[in-house]
Amino acid sequence: MKIHEYQAKQVLSQFGVPIPRGEIASNPYEAYEIAVRLGETVVVKAQIHAGGRGKGGGVKLASTPAEAEEIAGKMIGMTLITHQTGPEGRKVRRVLIEEGLPIKKEFYLGIVVDRGSQRPVIMASPAGGMDIEKVAAETPHLIFKEFVDPSIGLQPFSLRKLAFRLGLTGELLTPTTKIIAALYRAFEAVDASLVEINPFLLTETGKLYALDAKVNFDDNALYRHKDLLTLRDFYEEDPLEIEASRFSINYIRLDGTIGCMVNGAGLAMATMDIIKLAGGNPANFLDVGGGATVGQVRNAFKILLGDRNVKAVLINIFGGIVRCDVVANGVVEAAKSIGVRIPVVVRLEGTNVEQGQNILRNSGLTFTVAEGMKDAAEKVVALAK
Ligand code: GDP
Ligand code: MN
Repeated sequence: MKIHEYQAKQVLSQFGVPIPRGEIASNPYEAYEIAVRLGETVVVKAQIHAGGRGKGGGVKLASTPAEAEEIAGKMIGMTLITHQTGPEGRKVRRVLIEEGLPIKKEFYLGIVVDRGSQRPVIMASPAGGMDIEKVAAETPHLIFKEFVDPSIGLQPFSLRKLAFRLGLTGELLTPTTKIIAALYRAFEAVDASLVEINPFLLTETGKLYALDAKVNFDDNALYRHKDLLTLRDFYEEDPLEIEASRFSINYIRLDGTIGCMVNGAGLAMATMDIIKLAGGNPANFLDVGGGATVGQVRNAFKILLGDRNVKAVLINIFGGIVRCDVVANGVVEAAKSIGVRIPVVVRLEGTNVEQGQNILRNSGLTFTVAEGMKDAAEKVVALAK
């Protein structure tokens, strides 16, 4: 689960990360009032679940409340396009109004779980700000890493090492180590998959702040954090993905034209690969789950067809736990009740495969029955064109 910058800042500040003063506004008048309360130059920041706002026009300075009102008026309702939103962009519904701080230097701080070492890794860079992706690609030696052994926890020497690498020494050493420690506490306590402060700001007056913040939660741990669920913003999520989550269907929308309905995550991945190999593009990842009941097949069909880009559907089911004839009946029933108008290729394998294929052939519906995955992929790619 992702959250907005203003929410991430609230979460991090509870653990002791210093954040600028600020409030959220959903209309220009609120923006004006907040700017009056802050009483100085403010920054107006578009709240969307994507970064790159600075370069996309979603972060603007205002020197008076009237200017903050005007900028907020333009920003709220606009579709913001950044390198992280994709070409369709994201609609801005609220803006964060914050005190404007005098920038001396921008650093980067982040923590993720590193799969290779199976440990949290703290990353820090003196080259923070809007070009961290470029730093990672072109000058990776400027990103310093400290791995944390979870059995002994974060050690003070790791914190000091990072602070020295950032050049934050002398009077700044203690505040820096405190902030990194606070960030780590937050990361652990909320079961985050990522926490990030970019820029981690040093002001002209020698103070440190999280000027931007990002927190992603591990969905598998959210059951332990019922309070955090209130932070979820459905407007930021794909409606089809929300619908799929209601039925416990694992669905991720992609930008291709071939809808995939598969049982098992591994088979779903392999199906997407083979569609690519056949020259097509999958419109989604979809795992109907091991059971693949008529109800699940119907729900999955509805979600697939809800995506207007889908030009053909590939159903790839392995009848292991569930028998192929049961799946075939499910597919026929679901297709009849929904009224599918685009080509559907079905590849069944496993227990009772002949009965299953016969049910499809004799259904009166125009399914294309495929023999094997390669054949299925080639057929569906041809039909989608
Ligand atoms: P992102 O582009 O979506 O990551 O948005 P950020 O919150 O990181 O803001 C982008 C950039 O805007 C930062 O790197 C800063 O240079 C600038 N910025 C943000 N807040 C302030 C502020 O309070 N004062 C000044 N002068 N610049 C700011
Ligand atoms: Mn940023």
